[in-house]
Amino acid sequence: MALEPCAEDSVKSLNNELPVLKERGQREVFCGLTGIVWLHRKMQDAFFLVVGSRTCAHLLQSAAGVMIFAEPRFGTAILGERDLAGLADANEELDRVVDQLLSRRPDISTLFLVGSCPSEVIKLDLAKAAERLNQRFFPGVRVLNYSGSGIETTFTQGEDACLNSMVPGLPGGDQPELMVVGSLADIVEDQFRRLFDRLGIGPVHFLPPRRASHLPPVGKGTRLLVAQPFLSETVRSLLQRGATLLPSPYPLGIGGTTAWFQTAAEAWGISQRHFTETITPVVERAKVGLEPYAQILRGRKLFMFPDSQLEIPLARFLATECGMELVEVGTPYIDRLLLGQEINLLPGGTRLAEGQDVEKQLDRCRAARPDITVCGLGLANPLEAEGMTTKWSIELVFSAIHGYDQVADLAELFTRPLERRSRLTV
Ligand code: SF4
Repeated sequence: MALEPCAEDSVKSLNNELPVLKERGQREVFCGLTGIVWLHRKMQDAFFLVVGSRTCAHLLQSAAGVMIFAEPRFGTAILGERDLAGLADANEELDRVVDQLLSRRPDISTLFLVGSCPSEVIKLDLAKAAERLNQRFFPGVRVLNYSGSGIETTFTQGEDACLNSMVPGLPGGDQPELMVVGSLADIVEDQFRRLFDRLGIGPVHFLPPRRASHLPPVGKGTRLLVAQPFLSETVRSLLQRGATLLPSPYPLGIGGTTAWFQTAAEAWGISQRHFTETITPVVERAKVGLEPYAQILRGRKLFMFPDSQLEIPLARFLATECGMELVEVGTPYIDRLLLGQEINLLPGGTRLAEGQDVEKQLDRCRAARPDITVCGLGLANPLEAEGMTTKWSIELVFSAIHGYDQVADLAELFTRPLERRSRLTV
């Protein structure tokens, strides 16, 4: 099927000559507030205060419903009718909510004010509000701000905006250090730390840190190894602080994880022999775990709608390690700085789509009849009703999927919907 460019110059070539279909139309993606769901688990002394509407509160509560069993580390300051009367009122109201919160919760070391879409929130200057509150609560609490608005951010860009807001506050440091950039499940972070230790790579810091008050240093000696492909702004801000980027594929799948560690090993001058000896046992174990799932996925057709920004590395894993056939790989945006290495590993002829025009994309998807479609929640139900098998992309962001020990779990996330569908059709 031919690509249908929707604007002039909409098909451009990347370094490996893969055509990219650029689309700008109606989008079906979550907003950046969603990132709070995993970020609040990661930074245990931080609090995320969304300045927003009831819709924002509902999104967070339904996306993070499990939190009702734990002490919440996020909330919504809902701007109501009364606040529309004037900005002065809205600022006073915000200060009052923050006062209440911080007097009740002395464990909070960092407070993120998170902006949203409603026009009354857009009019509020949250950067100024953060500055004002910082003067009041310094040094006990640091107040930062970023936007999670659906107008400015998609799904995972919320994490980028959050981490980017932390960069100016990172202490300086010129020592040779590795900074892993991107939120990882604690279990994955622990595994990675052990492997870096065994390889002889260090000191290693993680951004975000487990405690928002334990900020990693950044400076001329800092090498950045990026763990999530959606951190464009954060990486650029860190580069401006003097850090150097180690371009690499992402630690998704066995091949991606090996390439990721290899990149760091080369930067630290680790011998190939020591590298191979260290990783071989873990790689062999991961291969054994992956094989039963790869058998199910081999030869199946995959269609990915743009949503999480993880699509390109996941497509590379599913094609090269699980033998899936890529029909279309959609992604919200392509940042060549962070995705160039991954795109080079995609099979020749892969159809890449950047941005979205959802109706056109649905037509292409229906015409291709893929075995599995990865998409957001809003598209999954209608496609399932049409007899198609879907995988919710949001689950990929909420699950621990990075690294060797998670490879089988990652593949299983794709075999599960296929098995569910085959049970339904028996
Ligand atoms: S899209 Fe806008 S209004 Fe809706 S939940 Fe996200 S920030 Fe709130």
